[in-house]
Amino acid sequence: MRYMDEELGAAAPGELEKAGEIEHVDLVTVRLPFVHPFSISAATWDCKEALLLRLEARAAPSGRGGRGPTLVAWGECVADPDPFYAYETTATTAHIIADFLLPLVEADLTIGGIMERFRHVRGHGMAKATVENALLDLAAKRRGAALHELLGYGARPVPSGVSLGLQESPAALVEKAREAVEAGYHRVKMKVKKGKDVEYVRAVREAFPDLALMVDANGDYSLDDAEHLAELDAFGLTMIEQPLSYSDIYQHSLLQRRLKTALCLDESILGLDDAAAAIALGACRVINIKQGRVGGLLESRRIARYAALKGLPSWSGGMDETGIGRAVNIHLQTDPDFSIPGDTAETARYFHEDLVEPPVTLGPGGWISVPAAGPGIGVEPLPERLDRLTIARRRLK
Ligand code: MG
Repeated sequence: MRYMDEELGAAAPGELEKAGEIEHVDLVTVRLPFVHPFSISAATWDCKEALLLRLEARAAPSGRGGRGPTLVAWGECVADPDPFYAYETTATTAHIIADFLLPLVEADLTIGGIMERFRHVRGHGMAKATVENALLDLAAKRRGAALHELLGYGARPVPSGVSLGLQESPAALVEKAREAVEAGYHRVKMKVKKGKDVEYVRAVREAFPDLALMVDANGDYSLDDAEHLAELDAFGLTMIEQPLSYSDIYQHSLLQRRLKTALCLDESILGLDDAAAAIALGACRVINIKQGRVGGLLESRRIARYAALKGLPSWSGGMDETGIGRAVNIHLQTDPDFSIPGDTAETARYFHEDLVEPPVTLGPGGWISVPAAGPGIGVEPLPERLDRLTIARRRLK
C-alpha cells in the first residue's frame, strides 16, 4: 500500500487501463517563440522549448485480424532547457525517459501499475509525468473517451487565471492587470521579487480594489524578509506563493505564523509526501499542484484529495505549456478537488501559433471549456506546424 492510500480512499490511483502494445516511441523537441519574454525572479525566457513524447499504437491493444487504425498519443514535458526553475531539464528528462522509465513500461501493466514501478526511479517527476500523460492520452483514445472521462470526471468548465511576469514599473503592471481584467480572467497573479514588490502590489490593488489578486516570488526571499513581506498583508491578497526557497518547507511554516495572508507552496511540492509535510507543519494554506512536475495526473489528484481532506484548496499551476500540456491541465481541473482558479490562460497570451488546434480561449464569464475536438486530450497537433517548430527528433522504438 502506498503512502496515505488508506486515508485517500477512492482517490488512490485507479488501476485504469493496461498500457497495451506501442509500435513507435519518439522524443520530439519543439521551440515556440513567446509573444512577450516572460520574467520571474529566477530567470527570463523568450521562447518555450519543450520535449514531447509521441506514442504510436493500434487502436485495439491486441486481438485477431484487424487491430484498428493507428493512434498517436502525446505527453508534454514541462522541463525547461535550463535548471533555473527546477532541477530537471529537457536533456535530463530525455535521458531519464529513454534510459530508465520507458524500459519499465510493459503492455500488460496498468498505467497505475507502471506509475508504481516508476517509484524505483527517485525524483524526476517531470520525466515521469511526460510518460504518464502520454499513456493516459493513449488509453483514452483507445476507449474513444475524453481524458477527463477516463479519470472519472465530468466536463465542467474551469476558471481562468493569468500570471503576469515582472514588469518595468508599477504603472506597466497596472496596465497588464487592466488587460487581464478586461479579458475576463477570474484571478490575476503577479510575479514579484526583492525591489519589485510592495509598491507594485499597492498600485494594482488601488486600481482594482476587488480583484482576486495574488503574488508569486519563486523563492526570492528569506526568513529575514518576514517583516517586509508582512507589508503585503495590507492588500488583501488571496495568497503569497513560494516566497522562500524552492527546497524549503520548514521555514515557510515559520513565515506563515508571522503573516495574515495565506502562503501557497509551489516549487516545494514534488509529491504527496511533501504536501502532507507542509500541511502538518502549517507551512501553507493553499497548494499549487503542477501535474507536470509532481509526476503526473494520478499523483496530482492524490495531492488534491489529501489537501481537501485537510481543508486546504488546491489549484492547477501552469508551466507555459504548449497546447498539449495546456489541454492536460484543463482536463485535470475537472476534478472537483481543484477548487480555486489556477494558472490556465489563453494560448494567445503566450504564442502567436501553437502546435495544436483549437487554441485555449476564454468563454463567457472568463470560463474555459474542456478541449473536445477528439478523444484523449481533445486537441490535435497540426503536422505542418509541428514539423516547422521541431528542432530535434529521435525514434526510440
Ligand atoms: Mg509558482
